[in-house]
Amino acid sequence: MGGIRLITRFWASTTPRAASAALDQKLLNLRLRAAPFIPANVFRLEPDAVETTVITPPAIVAEYELSGLPITGQIAKGVALVIKEDLDISKYPLVDLAAEAAQRNLPFGDLLGEKIRLTIEAFETLEAGLKKTDGDFAQTLLKALMEVKTNIVEIMGQERIGAREAVERFLQNFQALKDSEDEHYRSIYSDYYLLCAKMLAKKHQGAVDIIEEVDRLGNDAIIVAVDISPSDVGIVNDLKVRGIVREAGSLKDHLSLRTGEREKAGLVGVEGVASRVKTGDRVIIDGKAGKLIVNPSTETCSRYLSLIEQREEMLAPLKALRHLAAVTTDGQIVELLGNVADAEEVHLLLKHGMQGVGLVRTEFFFINNPDNSPREEQPGIAEQIKFYNHIINAAQGKKVVIRTIDPDKDKNLPYFDKLNGLTTGTHKRGLELFLDKDSPYYFLFREQLMALLQTAGAVRVMFPLVRSKEEFYAVMALIDEVRAELANDGKRINDHISYGIMVEHPDILPDLPELAHDRRIAFFSLGTNDLTQYITQIDRYNSIASRYSDELDPRILEAIETTVKAAGEGGKELSLCGNMGNDWVKLLVLLGLGLRKISFSTGFVDVARKIIMSVSADELQVMVENIKKITTAKEIRHYVEEYTREKINSGAWAGLKEIEALLFE
Ligand code: PEP
Ligand code: MG
Repeated sequence: MGGIRLITRFWASTTPRAASAALDQKLLNLRLRAAPFIPANVFRLEPDAVETTVITPPAIVAEYELSGLPITGQIAKGVALVIKEDLDISKYPLVDLAAEAAQRNLPFGDLLGEKIRLTIEAFETLEAGLKKTDGDFAQTLLKALMEVKTNIVEIMGQERIGAREAVERFLQNFQALKDSEDEHYRSIYSDYYLLCAKMLAKKHQGAVDIIEEVDRLGNDAIIVAVDISPSDVGIVNDLKVRGIVREAGSLKDHLSLRTGEREKAGLVGVEGVASRVKTGDRVIIDGKAGKLIVNPSTETCSRYLSLIEQREEMLAPLKALRHLAAVTTDGQIVELLGNVADAEEVHLLLKHGMQGVGLVRTEFFFINNPDNSPREEQPGIAEQIKFYNHIINAAQGKKVVIRTIDPDKDKNLPYFDKLNGLTTGTHKRGLELFLDKDSPYYFLFREQLMALLQTAGAVRVMFPLVRSKEEFYAVMALIDEVRAELANDGKRINDHISYGIMVEHPDILPDLPELAHDRRIAFFSLGTNDLTQYITQIDRYNSIASRYSDELDPRILEAIETTVKAAGEGGKELSLCGNMGNDWVKLLVLLGLGLRKISFSTGFVDVARKIIMSVSADELQVMVENIKKITTAKEIRHYVEEYTREKINSGAWAGLKEIEALLFE
C-alpha cells in the first residue's frame, strides 16, 4: 500500500441503522448519485430499503405527485432545476501543478501548500456537516473521513501532486476492495469514493452557480434539492426562480422564511424529490395542498391555470387597497411592516403599500457579497455604512429597524468558522456571543456598532436574543464606549438612532417590566420564530420536529400577552417581526392580543390588509379571552376558524366574504 496507512476496521460491526430517517434519505440520495460509476449493490443499505426506495425507481414519465410541507400558499409552475453535487470523480480535471505554478508565477512549494490547505478545508467542511448530523451512519462516515483526509494530504505532500490526482492514487490502492466478491469490502470502497467525491465537489460557488444554471435553463425555474446551503439563500433574489423544493429543511429555517418574503412558492420535507425529479421536468408547486406535481398532464395544467387565475381574480381587488391604511372596523390602525435583507427588498415593500421595515436581517449581508457569492472575510466598516444608508434611503423616511448581526445554525459566517473553528449555533447565540471579549464575534459586533453609529437618517437599532436586562446594559455600555471612540476620532455620529430589543427568549420575560421603564429603550419587538422554539423546546431547524411546533401554543400566546402588558405599562412601542402574522388565524389572534405593528411577507400582506380592514379589534379581544380556556394549538385554530365563519355568516365581518375562499380553501 505504499505510503498509505492501514485503515482502521471501524465498519466491521456497523449494521444499517433505523435512526434518523431524514439523514438516511439524504445519504441514500448521495449514494444513488454515485451509483452510475459504482455498482449499486456495493452500498451498505438494508435490502428492502434498497428495493423500495433506491435501486428500482419506478420508470416514471407520466404525471405523479410528491407531498411536502408548504412554505407559502403560493402556486407556481416552472421547469425543475435539480441541484446536485456532482459525485463523479472523473468529472474533476487533473491539474498540472508545475504548469499552474509557472502560470501564476508562484514557487511550486507555495502552490502545493495552498492546495493542501484548501483540501484540508474541504475535508473540514465535510466533517463539520457530518458532526451536525446524528445517526450511526454519519458516525461511520466521520471515522472513515479522518482516515481518508490523512491519507490524501499525505499523498499530496509526498508525491507533490494536487487533490484530484491524490484521490486517484488513493482509490487505486483499494482496487482490490472495489473488485471483491464480498459486498462488505465493496461497501468500504464506496465509502471512500463518496468522501473523496464530496471533498472534490465542494468547490462550487453556491448561489452564483445556481443562478447561472437558472439562466441557462431559459425558463421559470423551480429549484429542487436535497438541501440548499444557507449561504446560497441569495437564489431567492433571482426573479426567474419561482419556487424552491427541498427534501430537508424546515418551515422556519431562513431559506424558507426568505422564500416566503420574496413571494415564491416552496415545499420542504419532500422525500426523495432530488433523485426522482430530473432537470427539465415540468413541475407545479401547490402551496395549498402541499404537493409537487411532476410532468403534469394537460388536464392538470389547465386545472392549475384556472386555479391560478381564480386566485389572481380574488387578489386583484386587494392590490387596489395598497394605498389605504390598515384600519379595523372599530378604528384601530395597524402598521404593516416587512422584513428584508437588502435595499432592493425595501422597494418591494413600499410597492406593496407597507409602512416600513420591521427587521433588516443583517446576517445575509455578512454572509454573501452583493453578487451572492460567499464572502471570504467580513465586510469593512465603510462598506457597512454604505449598506445601511442605502436601506435607510430606500425606505424614504419610513421606519427602518436594523437588527445587529444574529449568527445562527443556518446563517453562520463561513470565514469565522474557518478561522476560529467555531460552529455557530452549537455554542452561544445572541448577545452572549458578542459580549464575550475573548470571542472574535465581539470585534465583529463592535465594528457593526461603529458602522451603525455613523449612518445618516432616522434608524432603529435592535438587538437579537437578549436574555437579561444585564445583557442590555452591557450592550449600552459598549455603545457608549464606541461612541466616545468615534467622537475622539472626530467622526460624525448619527443622533437619530433609537434602540430596542427582541423578545425571543423566555428568559427575558421577567425583566421586561423594568426594561420597559428604561429610557434608553424605545421599543420591543417580538421574535416569535425563536420565542416558539425556545418555549416549546422544538428545534426550528429540524425538518421533522419543527412540524410539531406552533405559535398558537398557549404558552407562546401567554408570553406575547406578557410582552404586550409590559410594553403598554412602560409606554414602549411594540412590534412583531417574527413570521407569525403570515397565517390569517394567527393574525386574528395577534390583533386580539393587542398587536398593532406586525411584519408580513409581501406574498401575504394584501390579504392581511383586507382582513384587518374587515374585522373589529374589540371583538377579537373577546375572542382571545375565550381561547385562553383552550389548551392546545390545534383547538385554538379550530375555534378561531369557527368564530370567523360565524362572523362572516352573520354579516358582521362582511369584508371577509370576498376572500372567504382564500381563507378556507
Ligand atoms: C424571530 O426569531 O422571530 C426572528 C424574527 O428572527 P430570526 O427568524 O432571524 O431568528
Ligand atoms: Mg430570531
